[in-house]
Amino acid sequence: MYQYFGITGWKDKVLFTPGPLTTSQTVKQAMLRDLGSRDGKFIGIIKEIREKLVELGQGDPKQYTALLLQGSGTYGLEAVVSSTIPPDGKLLVIINGAYGKRLAKITSVLKIETITLEYPENTTPDLREIEKTLKADNEIACVSVVHCETTTGIINPIKEIGELVAKSGATYFVDAMSSFGAVPIHLADCHIDYLVSSANKCIEGVPGFSFVLCKLSSLKASAGYARSVSFDLLDQYHGFEKNGQFRFTPPTHALVAFRQALAELELEGGVQARAKRYHHNYEILIAGMREMGFKEYLKPEDQGYIITSFLYPDDPKFSFETFYESLNQKDYVIYPGKVSDADCFRIGNIGRIFESDVRALLAAIRETIEEMGVKLK
Ligand SMILES: *Cc1c(COP(=O)(O)O)cnc(C)c1O
Repeated sequence: MYQYFGITGWKDKVLFTPGPLTTSQTVKQAMLRDLGSRDGKFIGIIKEIREKLVELGQGDPKQYTALLLQGSGTYGLEAVVSSTIPPDGKLLVIINGAYGKRLAKITSVLKIETITLEYPENTTPDLREIEKTLKADNEIACVSVVHCETTTGIINPIKEIGELVAKSGATYFVDAMSSFGAVPIHLADCHIDYLVSSANKCIEGVPGFSFVLCKLSSLKASAGYARSVSFDLLDQYHGFEKNGQFRFTPPTHALVAFRQALAELELEGGVQARAKRYHHNYEILIAGMREMGFKEYLKPEDQGYIITSFLYPDDPKFSFETFYESLNQKDYVIYPGKVSDADCFRIGNIGRIFESDVRALLAAIRETIEEMGVKLK
């Protein structure tokens, strides 16, 4: 036995971020196993995870399948666009934040013809303009939108957009990275062909893979479209169907942790119960922040309960770096803003955090603001 050289001497900080997030002790413990990728038990775990994910999307297993892909969430997004859009197909990207922009960047590198409808970061997309664009251009093969734009925390109307896309005949691709597992989503009702999320967001697993919920008929129609081997979704599907295995080395530890995380989601009461906890975290947070004099960036009606952007206080004594560092020293991790037209910071309500954690964060913020001498009102 060797001496343990891992992190010791300080406790885990509480992560109020968009991910990776705070996970339970038992999710971390689940990783203390070595598994062979061809082990029968491990193959059973992959199958179980894939089935549970379809269930979480309220999908009929005859019509939908869940594919797991090594890499972070962005890898899953890249897999969908690189392997399901026909060679001459055009993609419409609906953008109101940094993640929408990133997808357009991915497709420009891939040389996929891309058109965008871009909206301010504090505004939901214009449905009539989407409808008009789809009617005017029948070469659009796929439409993508982000469900919860984690840039601000805004929630986009995926069902309404899905209805328009379905009428046009294009495939519909939703980046539900930061919402899946915490905001109920019905794949068929939203007309979704591809939905991407990852292990380390609202399911509360650890980083290591993304997953793609696919409508089988659309996936099967994408033969020959892949622009890369590693990202070939249909081939990944064939691999799973053939022998239940990943084509290349699977993130075994992250997968067993994820299985534990899925079981804990179920024990908590499923997506509804998780939504309720996060929503409660959100309400405690904004009530406390408003009381101190902080203001949110978004209008309350557009604001989801996943993550909240707060404007910097209007006082020259405020410095985000000092604020962040001081909270960090108190063991609370918040996140910088990503909005282009306003100075904001972000606080997430997701992960293994509860009302008591949010209240402790609020107390630490109050203390920090006092230390900095910042006046909020
Ligand atoms: C976190 C996130 C991503 C990116 O995921 P990575 O795991 O960092 O690659 C993409 N889209 C949204 C909406 C996200 O919240």
